[in-house]
Amino acid sequence: MNKLKYSFLLTLFFTLSQAVAQRTIIHCGKLIDGVSDQVMNQMTVIIEADRIVSVEKGYTRAKKDDTVIDLKSKTVMPGLMDMHVHIEGESSPARQLQQYTLNPADVAYNAQGYAERTLMAGFTTVRDLGGSGVNVSLRNAINAGKVKGPRIYTAEKTIATTGGHGDPTNGAKMALMGDPGPSEGVVNSEADARKAVRQRYKNGADVIKITATGGVLSVAKDGQGPQFQMDELKGLVETAKEYGFVTAAHAHGDEGMRRAVEAGINSIEHGTFMSEATMDLMIQKGTYYVPTISAGKFVVEKAQIPGFFPPVVVPKALEVGPQIQETFARAYQKGVKIVFGTDAGVFPHGDNGKEFGFMVEAGMTPMESIKSATMMAAELLRITDDYGSLAAGKMADIVAVEGDPVKDISVMENVTFVMKGGKVFKD
Ligand SMILES: [Zn+2]
Repeated sequence: MNKLKYSFLLTLFFTLSQAVAQRTIIHCGKLIDGVSDQVMNQMTVIIEADRIVSVEKGYTRAKKDDTVIDLKSKTVMPGLMDMHVHIEGESSPARQLQQYTLNPADVAYNAQGYAERTLMAGFTTVRDLGGSGVNVSLRNAINAGKVKGPRIYTAEKTIATTGGHGDPTNGAKMALMGDPGPSEGVVNSEADARKAVRQRYKNGADVIKITATGGVLSVAKDGQGPQFQMDELKGLVETAKEYGFVTAAHAHGDEGMRRAVEAGINSIEHGTFMSEATMDLMIQKGTYYVPTISAGKFVVEKAQIPGFFPPVVVPKALEVGPQIQETFARAYQKGVKIVFGTDAGVFPHGDNGKEFGFMVEAGMTPMESIKSATMMAAELLRITDDYGSLAAGKMADIVAVEGDPVKDISVMENVTFVMKGGKVFKD
């Protein structure tokens, strides 16, 4: 066969195969599209390969080769997105010791299980805000289809200051403490800050996470004070912008939070003791707030159990934990942009959906809470071209729950259908 004939046949083959391309047709009893405030009834979502090709009113009749998925008794919505998880670990009384006993391969096997649980809970995308570097490999393995899990946007390692929340050798004996630097995510100058961001870029991070104040679970006394100077924050944020990174700042105390917002950080995590003035500044600068109410509730509960946390952590857990939901309520009333995030890993992975109930309990409407975990989250990650809503052209990341979450938000804790990139993972 000559070359010309061969290429003609090849073209014919592709044309024919496109004409009979396998479509998946989902019949949705109720549909929340991530943009509209209305729940739509009796809708059809049509998928080809990994993308949505159309969203239609009524139950579209299937053609001969179409695969039909019947979700007529369910509420269908975009894949959920949690903007604050730690996919590598889970808190337990053994956590502190595990830092010295687990090899990266052990961490990886654990993380694989957490990732699968997260996906099965309906979270098709997560932002991983800090681990050991295994998170980058896990993201790659999931993207390559080797293991099951959500799409991961990872910070790789958190960036902290010496002794700050996120310094990896906090609480270690002197012989093991060493003097971690920008490579390990520890900085003490503007130059260090730039280097730490560049190192994250080199290591394959997607986003940058800093710890602007003390934190609850670090083995260190202070849970609230600012831990970066303005020049360091400027070095971090400016460099991150140059590399196209979205930036997140863990913050409990108000002063550290204010500085991070002033420096141009994209989101404040936890935001526990956020003042009215900082809320105003966030509104003015367009800074997102990722509340993580679930983590607050969990640490208060576990702080009651003797030995669950190291002694230095307990008073911080009791002080910070109960405050977050109240701050969320005030920030919501004031109009700060709120994006869904839980801090899963502080509590068991897979329980992410409880956050919806906590948000609604504090005054948010159920629909807004769902949008905060779909379109708003995609906005924060700047991936709205592909994710965050059910519309033609978007990736087919689709989940469903029984009943109607607008009437009973607790159904979000039990996602019964999960599709990621057009592939069904749970039915
Ligand atoms: Zn966290």
